[in-house]
Amino acid sequence: MKYADRMGKIKASEIRELLKLTTKPEIISFAGGLPAPELFPVEQMKSITTKIMNEQGESALQYSPTEGYVPLREAICKQVDFESSVDNVLITSGSQQGLDFSAKIFINPGDVIICESPSYLGALNAFKAYEANFKEVATDEEGMIMEDLERILKETPMARMIYVIPDFQNPTGRTWSIERRKRFIELANEYDLPVIEDNPYGALRFEGVRPPSLKSFDTEGRVIFLGTFSKTFCPGLRIGWVQASDELINKYILVKQGADLQTNSLAQREIHEFITNYDFEGHIENIKKVYKRRRDLMLEAIEKYFPEGVTHTYPEGGLFLWVSLPEYINTKELSYKALEKNVAYVPGGSFYPDGDKKNSFRLNYSNMTDEKIVEGIKRLGAVIKEAMKA
Ligand code: PMP
Repeated sequence: MKYADRMGKIKASEIRELLKLTTKPEIISFAGGLPAPELFPVEQMKSITTKIMNEQGESALQYSPTEGYVPLREAICKQVDFESSVDNVLITSGSQQGLDFSAKIFINPGDVIICESPSYLGALNAFKAYEANFKEVATDEEGMIMEDLERILKETPMARMIYVIPDFQNPTGRTWSIERRKRFIELANEYDLPVIEDNPYGALRFEGVRPPSLKSFDTEGRVIFLGTFSKTFCPGLRIGWVQASDELINKYILVKQGADLQTNSLAQREIHEFITNYDFEGHIENIKKVYKRRRDLMLEAIEKYFPEGVTHTYPEGGLFLWVSLPEYINTKELSYKALEKNVAYVPGGSFYPDGDKKNSFRLNYSNMTDEKIVEGIKRLGAVIKEAMKA
């Protein structure tokens, strides 16, 4: 079969391949980015669905406007730390759809997207379908390194968009400092580029203070904020959103029409009902409590079972932490050894567009029980020790 050129750029996601293996019950998986399903409000959702069917069943099952359900968009405006009117919000099928649309709107084949190094694999894959090239900006504990960003901006006339995850980044779990955020906006202004601020995890902060969003520093309407209920509520309903200036949001609405007309009408009403008439804040507090305990357990187990010479990030929230091994260790090869011991993680190379960094991996702590976290890290420690001896 003859396929479009863009198909040559898209490869099966390593995480998806891995996740297939990790469905086996004996596997302790730190690989996916799955929320804890035992925290999904299943019982409440039964009553919510019945209520919606009783009160507005016909409209919940009918086509509805592309922009999304107005009361949900109003509720979203109240959640964010920047000024936004309902007209600046478009409901999408998860924030993943916002990523896809962003490249569709800004990227011609061969254009360059600037991103963090490492960055979210799912975004890189979505962008690759538009035949984008990438420039990776170095990162440290405070996020993207601005001197490196400035150098890359100077050297890259084909740059068309900057993609960043400033809060509890996937895959590192790091959060950008306020100073970097301010400088970042100055540079984006200077080089006149649109910024995709992808923020699925910011609300899940266990400690410290949430820094202002990039969008809150944006005075020129160049930041496009992507939000989602996947991590604060549940991912299965596929409800996310885009918030952008009048000019930009209209472009997103146009491509949304062509992609799928609108987001699921029933799911939008269900989420709206939960966040307005149930204890949404209490629900998030509960998620944070459980994830904090799991993060703490994972960090303690790492201290106890991982050998010296291994470093890791310290996430103040979110779902992930990032482990770096000595440079001579290839974590992809090591992942097969870990799988023999029934433990899975995602090798770090997957999170770099050019895939050439080989000694790190991502650990997810939201989806396994306390016992499995400790046991899995213990087994992983033994696998790492073995590799470092060899
Ligand atoms: N962005 C980031 C950084 C993510 O980690 C994820 C999900 N893992 C998404 C976007 C997509 O999330 P969703 O489509 O479920 O909102």
